Amino acid sequence: MKYLLLLALLVVAYLLWRNARLARGAPPAGRKPDAAAGPQEMVSCPVCGLHLPRADAVTGADGLLYCSQEHRLSAGG
Ligand SMILES: [Zn+2]
Repeated sequence: MKYLLLLALLVVAYLLWRNARLARGAPPAGRKPDAAAGPQEMVSCPVCGLHLPRADAVTGADGLLYCSQEHRLSAGG
């Protein structure tokens, strides 16, 4: 019974160590490489549905974000 407790303790310690390593270290293989460049908010144009960085978007009078001046104007903003 004593060994069972010790084994459980070792398993818990291993899981904690593994979680800490995953949280701090190497990202999983499936992750996008540009995520390292910093968080970048993506918005979608309500006219054509194009996704673009918020910094590149054109803000309309209604507060909506468009991909270009043409789409902002075509939406009546
Ligand atoms: Zn657009």
